[in-house]
Amino acid sequence: MGVKVAKFGGTSVADAIQVRKTGEIIRADQDRRIVVVSAPGKRFDTDNKVTDLLYLLKTHIEQNAPYEQVLQTIRDRFLGVERELGLNAGVTEEFLEIEARLSRGASADYIASRGEHISAKIMAAYLGYDFVDAAGLVQFSAKGKFLTEETNAALSAALTEHERAVLPGFYGTLPDGEIKTFSRGGSDITGAIAARAVKADVYENWTDVSGFLMADPRIVENPKSIGIISYEELRELAYMGASVLHENAIYPVRMAGIPINIRNTNKPEDKGTLIVADEQKQDNGIITGIAGNRDFTVVAIYKNMMSAEPGFIKRVLSILEDYDVSIEHIPSGIDTVSMVIADRYLEGKLDDIIDDIERKTQADSVEVFEKMSLIATVGSGMAARKGVSAKLFTALADADVNIRMIDQGSSEMNIIIGVENKDFEKAIRAIYNTFVIEQ
Ligand code: ADP
Ligand code: ASP
Ligand code: MG
Repeated sequence: MGVKVAKFGGTSVADAIQVRKTGEIIRADQDRRIVVVSAPGKRFDTDNKVTDLLYLLKTHIEQNAPYEQVLQTIRDRFLGVERELGLNAGVTEEFLEIEARLSRGASADYIASRGEHISAKIMAAYLGYDFVDAAGLVQFSAKGKFLTEETNAALSAALTEHERAVLPGFYGTLPDGEIKTFSRGGSDITGAIAARAVKADVYENWTDVSGFLMADPRIVENPKSIGIISYEELRELAYMGASVLHENAIYPVRMAGIPINIRNTNKPEDKGTLIVADEQKQDNGIITGIAGNRDFTVVAIYKNMMSAEPGFIKRVLSILEDYDVSIEHIPSGIDTVSMVIADRYLEGKLDDIIDDIERKTQADSVEVFEKMSLIATVGSGMAARKGVSAKLFTALADADVNIRMIDQGSSEMNIIIGVENKDFEKAIRAIYNTFVIEQ
């Protein structure tokens, strides 16, 4: 018998109807022995994700605002699923425990983790699988760094004890036993590390789209889906905001050579997207996909003879380090270098940073472009073909989009452009039309 790890995202476990669909998928293949679940997601557009409600609960507590109503909403959602499925999964007891912990000052990570915890309890009861808690198995260092090898060893040993198991996604523990979560969307990471731990034949990631689409469906109408994509290409797209799969979910499976299959819980008959090593991928199109993110600031620094001045960029970087600011990209020219920074790192710091750069580097000028978006056009097929960038820039010029920054990755698999936020969607559509529709 083989083994498949199947991770189900928020929408796949959002209510009793979805849990039933998920159960049917799992039962349809005896190899789907290890199941990882998210917290219930949105049931409809204006609905709330349970994880968001849990963070809201924590905010209420921090602000000393009454929180009983938020807690009740979350409890009702889980109780409703438990009741509709005719289960006794211990939801009531879970909430008694949560209340007891809240009164002792529970951490935000503990509170946020309960969505996955209870979701996994319900799924385990529904399937008749063992519940295996991620606490104690998925491990972080005291500083909060994910411990890859320790986790792999512990998870591998624990899961061999169970023929069939459900594992909650998103969280693990610190050395002192306190709960620590991954960043948002982190259940994808749990699924990937579980797949590596049991040497799965495939890591199935079940969500609400039939695979990875060439562009965000909220921006491009009916984008084509990608049949096959390499880990490298996918990582670039995921990093740039194609949110289907957490960017850190790729490393564990890639290392173990396990393919990832993105599937649609609502259309299980669709094949979805298969993610494999580059060598196994036949190139079909010039580009594989487009992804992007809003809200960046570009700080462009000009200085005559910059390239002849050793340590110039290092000085700029150390200033940014002093302000604890991470940098996304550093495109450079002969006498210019730009720092592309996500706005969330800059809150209230930008003016001081500019002052410091001007003073400490004696730059001739420092220009700031705010409200910028980054868009990555990704495809391993680009390297072999001439004129791809020319085509891209023509498409954007025709769409009347101003390009403020260009950065081509050294792999030639990725062209990143900076445009104004207001042009973000227009630019993505223009690129999609040129490379996909008009091909
Ligand atoms: P889950 O809760 O199952 O983990 P996510 O919301 O994290 O699901 O990811 C799936 C969503 O990602 C889709 O519903 C879609 O709106 C969005 N998305 C963004 N970019 C893409 C893309 N390139 N292809 C497919 N879906 C995308
Ligand atoms: N529930 C968590 C979140 O909403 C983790 C996940 O769904 O992957 O971010
Ligand atoms: Mg997700």
